[in-house]
This record gives sequence, C-alpha cells and structure tokens, in this order.
Amino acid sequence: MNNLIIGQSKNGKAVFTNKDFKKGEEIIEFSGKLFTYEQLPTPYNEVDDHYVQIDKNLYMGPSGGVDDFFNHSCDPEAGLKINNGKVILMAIRNIKKGEEITWDYSTTMDEDGWEMDCMCGYKNCRRIIRDFKYLPKEIQQRYIKLGIVPKYILEKLKRDLKQYNI
Ligand SMILES: [Zn+2]
Repeated sequence: MNNLIIGQSKNGKAVFTNKDFKKGEEIIEFSGKLFTYEQLPTPYNEVDDHYVQIDKNLYMGPSGGVDDFFNHSCDPEAGLKINNGKVILMAIRNIKKGEEITWDYSTTMDEDGWEMDCMCGYKNCRRIIRDFKYLPKEIQQRYIKLGIVPKYILEKLKRDLKQYNI
C-alpha cells in the first residue's frame, strides 16, 4: 500500500496523500532511533535534520522513510498522537486524495532550544515555529481537544496553571 507520496511543494519536499483520510483516521506510524536532547546533532540543520520531540528529553530521529518528510503548517491536516512510545500521525480533519499532509511541529515542542521561521503560507501563519507554550491560548485549546498534545506538555501546563492559581 502506497498511500503516501513524497512530492514537491513550494517549500521543498512534502508528503501528499494518494487516498482520502477521514478525521481521526491513522495516517502513518513514525519510527526512528531515539535520542536525548544532548545527543542531537550540533549544529542542528533545521531543514535536513528530522528529529521530533516525543517526550520530556526524548527525540525520534529520521527513519529514512516517508515520515521524515511531513512539513510543518500553522493550519495542519494532521497531528501526532504519542502514547507509550508509539508516535502516530492522525488526520484532524477530512483529507482529500492529492492534498499535502502537514502537522504543527509546535504541538510536541517543549524545550526552548530550537525555533524556525515558518513559510507555510497560511493567512494566519505564526511566522515562527517554537514551543507549544507560546501558542495562542485558543490554538492550544483546539489542539488539546483534538487529542494531539502529548502528556509531557499537558502535565506541565497543569502545573503552571496551579502555580498561578488559574
Ligand atoms: Zn506558518
């Protein structure tokens, strides 16, 4: 089954779908070697290095497969569900055959070590990709409701809310 195709978007390599996905449907499981923050390559090449934060101090490296090529968007079609070490890309709306599939990198980021300019082209593009905690509250809420914010970020949010008595 070859549902996902690596193609070319305006910002370089991108992943397109060869079939429709329904909201909530699994698109692909990410795989790759695991690294701690200290083990990440330096300098970090933000275009060619594919390391996804999946826990407090844990990153999934490139697999060499299609999962390395999903781009970021501030208006994504998909999101990562991280559960017991499994990293699943899931559709967060209906996706049509031929569309590019993107996810919002900020949803798993909590490190203060890395940021990147965004050129996704969405009219409300945030211009910069950085930690989840810097997202506008309404976007945070939307992602939390969709179930694509990992536990380590939710737990930290809860702690912060308590600390400020909110
Ligand atoms: Zn953007």
